[in-house]
Amino acid sequence: MTFHTLGLSTDLLRAVADEGYTVPTPIQQQAIPAILQGQDIFASAQTGTGKTAGFTLPLLQRLSIAHPSKGPRTPRALILTPTRELAAQVSDSVKTYGKYLSLKSAAVYGGVGILPQIQALRRGVDILVATPGRLLDHLGQKTLNLSQIEILVLDECDRMLDMGFIGDIRKILAYLPVSRQTLMFSATFSKSIQQLAKTLLKSPTLIEV
Ligand code: AMP
Repeated sequence: MTFHTLGLSTDLLRAVADEGYTVPTPIQQQAIPAILQGQDIFASAQTGTGKTAGFTLPLLQRLSIAHPSKGPRTPRALILTPTRELAAQVSDSVKTYGKYLSLKSAAVYGGVGILPQIQALRRGVDILVATPGRLLDHLGQKTLNLSQIEILVLDECDRMLDMGFIGDIRKILAYLPVSRQTLMFSATFSKSIQQLAKTLLKSPTLIEV
């Protein structure tokens, strides 16, 4: 199994090759084709399994194929993470794997000034990586429009629930279009995670690695 057989475009295959990856990990083998087909997914995967590339590569491909109408860029993909460290890491991955594409990304998280983030959003963003609290701050200040989101990723869902973010996540969901692709990643499949999955996902593909 190689990355070529998964259906990724040459721009993404080049970026993958630059990273020195030759064989897709089990989660990548399962998640990439399903996400490219537009399916919702519910995946149990620990850190270190390659899950970030598993959702970032097909997300980039879907956004690069279907171009939005002209005008200022509003976010088309939203990736929620529990911590700012993870947000920064995922944001780096988006930039690394998307380096041959012309999509723009930004990260918004707490603990740093909000003004540079507002300026980045104003310049236009296709892919937004965010922690729930700071994202709600931006929504409250009306510096952010999530009405064009096509793909929502909830990364490390179990940690987000453990940290008490369920209320914030529900508030954020109210800003998103109902018609979208949703991808949930969690190290565990607890009752509360399964309940959340039931309310968020449409006929999801289940992936366990
Ligand atoms: P993650 O589980 O997403 O945090 O990724 C763990 C690490 O695996 C990261 O440092 C990636 O750069 C690396 N990685 C991801 N996919 C592959 C792959 N197919 N082959 C080798 N390394 C990979």
